[in-house]
Amino acid sequence: MSAPQHPIHLQGVSLESIAQEFGTPIYVYDGEKIVSQIKALQTAFATVPLKIKYATKALSNISILKLVKKAGEGVDAVSIEEVRICMLAGFAASEIMYTPSGVNFREVQEAVELGVMVNLDSISLMEEFGEVYGNTKPACIRINPHIMAGGNAKISVGHIQSKFGISIQQLHEILEVVEKYKIKIVGLHIHTGSDILDAEIFLRGGNVLFEAAINFPDLTFLDFGGGFKVAYKSGDPSTDIAEVGAKVSAAFNEFCEKYGRKLELWIEPGKFLVSESGYLIVETNMVKKTPQITFVGVDSGLNHLIRPMMYDAYHDVYNLSNPEGQPHPYNVVGYICETDTLAKDRMLSSVSKGNLLVFKNAGAYGISMSSNYNSRLRPAEVLVWEGKAHLIRKREQFEDLIKNQVVLDI
Ligand SMILES: *Cc1c(COP(=O)(O)O)cnc(C)c1O
Repeated sequence: MSAPQHPIHLQGVSLESIAQEFGTPIYVYDGEKIVSQIKALQTAFATVPLKIKYATKALSNISILKLVKKAGEGVDAVSIEEVRICMLAGFAASEIMYTPSGVNFREVQEAVELGVMVNLDSISLMEEFGEVYGNTKPACIRINPHIMAGGNAKISVGHIQSKFGISIQQLHEILEVVEKYKIKIVGLHIHTGSDILDAEIFLRGGNVLFEAAINFPDLTFLDFGGGFKVAYKSGDPSTDIAEVGAKVSAAFNEFCEKYGRKLELWIEPGKFLVSESGYLIVETNMVKKTPQITFVGVDSGLNHLIRPMMYDAYHDVYNLSNPEGQPHPYNVVGYICETDTLAKDRMLSSVSKGNLLVFKNAGAYGISMSSNYNSRLRPAEVLVWEGKAHLIRKREQFEDLIKNQVVLDI
């Protein structure tokens, strides 16, 4: 018999027992999967000095960050709050790269004062940075390579109309500002988008980095960003990491010869490390037959998993409670008072009220994009590690929801 396509256990712990012990809705992560994804990258890039900088924003639970730290890797943070969370997880300032997008300079200063390197993403930020720090603090520059890449418009961030980075066409200006303040540029960075399938895109990005890099004598690394695609359903293509690793490493090693020094190669995977590790378990509240569609209503919604509505993302879903049932087509919908279709026209084994459904690929941009919309509470999180289920975030309580409200006496 082939292995079941939809897990009912993680490391021998049954998903049903986790739902029973901790309640639903609940996010569950398989720590072993995260570690094996890190190892796959380390293997694929074995011929270069690789540094993984996990994109914290994908899933910022401190216990998850500790797994990344334990695997010997670092992090990329996009806000000062993420920087602080990474420090709480035990990362040294030197292991954190701070990649802000259009933030106030005060926030940049806060990061620099903590000892964290900043990835400069505009000419004006370079000016501010140069004026205050001159050549006293190392920095990185985020280059916009003008490459259209990524699964959809909202996650394509390296094209010519994107707000991110400094245009490669402005290299001249970049060099003028570096020269004016003698800024010590130790790294160049690109990140072109998410769900990038093709090794060629990473190579094209690499070529832009290599061409620019020749102008910067103090480099210690080049950062290729994240964006590796994972599979969302069986048969779905994912980035061939071995191929990307082999091709990019070969080009990189060749470049280093030309540059005259061995540099580090950095990547910033978010989704690739945590997407497939995560499962969102929900309970069905109702089954509603209408003339055209049978709806399954669950105790969750776009407040917990916004990717289907925001990105038209596909999350595979299965009925954990009735795996052998007769398959029927359903629309799985949330309890939010707004259209929040989590899964459309899916064949699920016959669903009844009280069943547990499981959404896959829920590790990345799941709870980290969740909200309290409709005054709903955020779910708990569980990490399965070393064969045991550990609670790593308590379910929110009603008190959490209102604790910052200041109630006027009127
Ligand atoms: C979001 C982000 C990433 C990670 O993207 P994934 O698609 O999750 O791999 C990496 N680097 C930066 C700067 C990002 O903003």
